[in-house]
This record gives sequence, C-alpha cells and structure tokens, in this order.
Amino acid sequence: MPATASRLAIFQESVIREMTRLANRHQAINLAQGFPDFDPPAALIAALEQSARGAFHQYSITWGSARFRQALAAKINRFTRLAIDPDKHLVTTCGSTEAMMVAMMTACNPGDKVIVFSPFYENYAADAILSGAEPIYVSLRPPGFGFDPGDLRRAFRQNPKALVLCNPSNPCGKVFTREELLFILALAQEHDAFVITDEVYEHIVYAPAEHIPFATLPGAWERTLSCGSLSKTYSITGWRLGYVAAPMEIIAQARKVHDFLTVGAAAPLQEAAATALEFPDTYYADLLAEYSRKRDIFLGYLRQTGLPFTTPQGAYYTLVDISSLGFASDRIAAEELTRRIGVTGVPGSSFFREPVHRYIRFHFAKKDETLHAAGERLASKLRA
Ligand code: GLN
Repeated sequence: MPATASRLAIFQESVIREMTRLANRHQAINLAQGFPDFDPPAALIAALEQSARGAFHQYSITWGSARFRQALAAKINRFTRLAIDPDKHLVTTCGSTEAMMVAMMTACNPGDKVIVFSPFYENYAADAILSGAEPIYVSLRPPGFGFDPGDLRRAFRQNPKALVLCNPSNPCGKVFTREELLFILALAQEHDAFVITDEVYEHIVYAPAEHIPFATLPGAWERTLSCGSLSKTYSITGWRLGYVAAPMEIIAQARKVHDFLTVGAAAPLQEAAATALEFPDTYYADLLAEYSRKRDIFLGYLRQTGLPFTTPQGAYYTLVDISSLGFASDRIAAEELTRRIGVTGVPGSSFFREPVHRYIRFHFAKKDETLHAAGERLASKLRA
C-alpha cells in the first residue's frame, strides 16, 4: 500500500471529538465537546420546517445564498458598524471550522509561519499544517492568560504571514482587551501580517469583559479575515454554518478556496438561518443571561471540590486544575473521570503547546438539569 501524505503525521486526530466518543461509550455526561443539549430557538426550527418545503434543495450560490448573506451582513453591521456588503465582503462556509481553513489557505503560502497563542483550539495547528504553513506559538500565561509583549514581538521577528486570534478564547475563556488587540495590530502592521480571527463566542462575553471585534480597530480591516459562526450563538452546531468576512480583494480569493473545498453550505439551512440572523437585540441579551446563569451553576459545584479552576470572561469553558488528584496524566484523568464518575472533559494538554498536563476542560453549554447532574457527581466524588 502506498504511504499516505507525510503532513498527516505532524498532527493528531481531534482529542475533543475523541472524548465525545468516549463519553458515548460509557454513557457519561459529555462536558467535553462544546455543544448544547438544549434545543435551538423554536422560531428557528419553524423556519427550518418551512425551508424544507420551499425550493432550496439544490446548490445555493457557492459563496452563500443571497438571503443568508443579506441577513448576515445586516446582523454584523448592527453589532460592529463595519458596513459589510453582502455581495463583496462575505463567504458563507460549513461552520467556522471551514472558515478558518479557508482563511488560512487564502492567507498563507507553503512554508509561511503562523502565530498561534497557546493554549489554543486544536484545529488551528492542523489548519496551518494542512495549508503547508508552520504554526509558531506564543504563550498565554495563567492565571489571566495574557501574553508577554516581548514574546509576541519575538514571534513577529520570524516574519509570520498571519496570526490566529481566538477571541473570546477557547479553552481559557480569555477576552482580549483593547490595549492587547491594539498591540497585536501594531505588530501585524509593522510586519505586514494578516490577522485571522475566530470570534464564534462573540455573544458569550460576561460583564465587565467586552468583546471588541478585531476588524473594527482603526486600520485593522484591510488585514483581517474575521471568521464567525452561527453554531454557538443560535445553538445549532450541527447546521454547520459559518463565514469569513474580509475586504473584497481577500474574499474574492477566499471564495475560490471555499468553492473547491465544499461548493457551499447546506442551502435549506442557510435559508432557515436567515431567520435567526434577524432576531432582535433582546435575543442576544437573553442568551448571555442564560450562559451567565449556567456559568454560576457549574462553577458553584466546582468550588465545592476545592480544586482550582478558571473563571471564563467569555465562551463556555473552564479549565479545572486536577494536578492534586494524583493521576499519572490529564489524559488518564479524563478517562478515569468518565469511567468512575460518569462526567467527561477534555485533557487540557491537547490545547497547550507547552508541556501542561494539569487541566481538564469542561464546558457548561448544557441544560440546567445536566449541569446539576454533572456538578453533583463532581462535587461529591472529587476532592482537592
Ligand atoms: N468548539 C467546540 C469545542 O471546542 C466544538 C468543536 C468541534 O468539535 N467542532 O469543544
């Protein structure tokens, strides 16, 4: 048998998705892969029923159906004031996962370097490698997960083609301040690099933290590929709807990449999702209130364990420090917690470039009853 491509040896299968399979095998509560176990808004399900009966069963325009892009542009403009033109500045993708891959392939040549903050969402390194680029890492340092300006300056001296910015950040829950974003922008400008953002948690930011879309910083637009998704905001991770927003010249190239990768996102789902993009501002306030409540519920149980954990400023993950529990590794801890307690998280080491093995990542995008069930198991069985 011929050998498969050598680039595939440089990265591993997703540990997040693997943990979902582990949880399913043991019928454990899955707090590993970040997706809700509650329904999306009823209006959205009704819209999906309607679109199923409409004439949307063939390909839509490859870069996104007109209705979807119009609704998306209006929604982005409402929250960012960016003046996105639906015909020039958007490509609709199969989730932010494809958006990030498209952005990376659009920005990078083989051999280019890409700055990734560590800890990082595991797709970024794989995206860079699949694009022929090389990820280089800058540490976000606990407890606040800020970066050392000198570290970032040194990384930029390697002349990277792009920096990946996940804000709010998965898995550490950091929300970057305006000052930090301006520092990143200044270096990107100085070294003429792109900034590829993953802002899928833009609406899940807990006060007093505030989300600043990178592209809205003065002078940022021309070098920013903003990736977003409907998955988390409307609780539809299975619909696989995301997008890249960027200047026309960049989008013209990104559309080619997207077209040859997937042709397009699912037409009936785009049609239905336009309804969500038209939800009023109160929808987003309610979503945040719900997640704030869920954060309080889950972290309340973690407090009872006596174990240290991160309190996210944004997104819906917490890193729990299990180093005092005596497991041989975080991987073994995740497997044992699944088997013995019936709660599954992700071994934190899969998010770190550094040899960090002290964390398990749990998410709290679950029904209250699921959080109570998982929380009670953790609080009663885990003790610092
Ligand atoms: N973003 C979610 C996580 O970090 C889900 C990722 C996925 O599996 N696509 O768990």
